[in-house]
Amino acid sequence: MTSCFKGKPMDGEKPIVLVIGAGPAGLTAALELIRRSKYCPVVVEASHEIGGISRTVNYKGYRMDIGGHRFFSKSDWVMNWWQEIMPIIDAKNANIPVQISYRQKHREVKTSSYSQPSDLVLLIRNRLSRIYYLRKFFDYPISLSAKTLGNLGVVRIFRIGISYCLATLFPKRPERSLEDFLINRFGDELYRTFFKDYTEKVWGVPCNQISAEWGAQRIKGLSIIKAIRHALSRPLQQKSIEQKNTSTSLIERFLYPKLGPGQLWEEVARRVEVAGGQILLGHKVSGVRIVSGRVDAVMVTGNDGGEKRIEAEHFISTMPIKDLVAAMNDVPPEEVRAIASELPYRDFVTVGLLVSRMKKIDHSLASQLNECPPDNWIYVQESDVKLGRIQVFNNWSPYLVADSKNVWLGLEYFCQEGD
Ligand SMILES: Cc1cc2nc3c(=O)[nH]c(=O)nc-3n(C[C@H](O)[C@H](O)[C@H](O)COP(=O)(O)OP(=O)(O)OC[C@H]3O[C@@H](n4cnc5c(N)ncnc54)[C@H](O)[C@@H]3O)c2cc1C
Repeated sequence: MTSCFKGKPMDGEKPIVLVIGAGPAGLTAALELIRRSKYCPVVVEASHEIGGISRTVNYKGYRMDIGGHRFFSKSDWVMNWWQEIMPIIDAKNANIPVQISYRQKHREVKTSSYSQPSDLVLLIRNRLSRIYYLRKFFDYPISLSAKTLGNLGVVRIFRIGISYCLATLFPKRPERSLEDFLINRFGDELYRTFFKDYTEKVWGVPCNQISAEWGAQRIKGLSIIKAIRHALSRPLQQKSIEQKNTSTSLIERFLYPKLGPGQLWEEVARRVEVAGGQILLGHKVSGVRIVSGRVDAVMVTGNDGGEKRIEAEHFISTMPIKDLVAAMNDVPPEEVRAIASELPYRDFVTVGLLVSRMKKIDHSLASQLNECPPDNWIYVQESDVKLGRIQVFNNWSPYLVADSKNVWLGLEYFCQEGD
């Protein structure tokens, strides 16, 4: 084992695995290496923060989740891993299995009560998101309901019906773009109403330039016939759930760290360091040295602007592929370098807005509002508004908000670097 960087003295017995990036992937790898291997992880992180895009930003005690992270996994291993770091607390339903859900997938989790007050816990939160469009609120995901029909109005519904019939009778063939894919399934009017503007806002690419396969991946299983069937069967479903009288409800729930997603990764980082691993913040990997087809060292630019070389037995990278390939200089084949250099990355700016009073934004919910909207997210579909989504941090976890009298909003703008 060799190490030629001058940091904290390493455990001389253990070979180093160098991990690039202190986001969820890098930190999970580091903790697992400590738990299950003979290796000692050294994590190098370009920024001065832990958690990557899952970090929590703290502004004077007001915490921001820069992405809006719901904790849900189909994998038991992942669910257990999180809960080992942070147990799930639900004061009202202690020790009762509670159902959580994410994108129509459900699973049960066990909860405990506070044995002693702790911040290091996962909360169970109710989910409500809505779409803001035509200066009105629609359900998210959009559902075929009386409210949706009322918001759309008779003329638009008529146009939607006609254009759906036309699309069914005369589908676009071949189906080349996402636009073709969506029009063939929903008709031109519904596509323009609910898909076009928001998709283009999020991805920054016109729908007629996104491939149809992408639509098949993302929007599989969605159809007008299914939506009508679902709407017609809903009253019956509600009845049967009430009859069962279980703790299951139609409200979607998700897990969320009390102090935001970054809290979990800060705890993982703490455990890595306590167990002897190292985390070097403000250390950006600028070069990857390859000898005989194998990475033998990375060049790291530190806080002081100086470059150092770090050797290790193994390397794990979680940095963007585009940057990783570029850091290997001319070693990868030219075709690989050309593809990597062209990879597009969509950027994202979240603006924290702390407001002491809010206008009532939905009079139909006025009694519930108490001046704070009830949503986790409001999807702003209006094409004349640059803002893409609004997070209401109070509803993700009340502990993100230093003074609960205030409404703490995250205004999300999807953009390109340099916008
Ligand atoms: C808007 C949004 C919402 C999301 N919602 C959810 C959700 O609800 N649930 C969920 O599970 N996931 C969600 N995600 C996804 C989740 O944030 C990511 O999957 C996760 O953060 C990826 O972890 P990572 O470690 O692979 O990468 P990252 O989090 O990107 O971490 C990579 C780290 O590497 C560092 N790095 C980069 N280049 C270098 C370099 N050259 N040298 C050293 N360090 C470098 C970066 O600074 C960063 O800290 C969401 C993401 C976004 C953007």
